[in-house]
Amino acid sequence: MRLGPRLYIVGAGTIYMAHVPELPEKYVCTACQTMHAGTVSERTDSGHQYEAPAKCGCCGETELVTEKDWPHFTQ
Ligand SMILES: [Zn+2]
Repeated sequence: MRLGPRLYIVGAGTIYMAHVPELPEKYVCTACQTMHAGTVSERTDSGHQYEAPAKCGCCGETELVTEKDWPHFTQ
């Protein structure tokens, strides 16, 4: 019996999604690098939509970037 690698990955992903709760999008303060959980702006069938907090709760900076954009921001 042969199972293609794609099939295996889809199966594993399904199990992962079933057992791990949805994680909120995270934002990084560009001034002090504190990480903040995103604010839920909309609930959708597939989960939630997030937006950056209005300002950093630690230093008051208003520019926050998503966690995935942070490595690009620092370059
Ligand atoms: Zn800050």
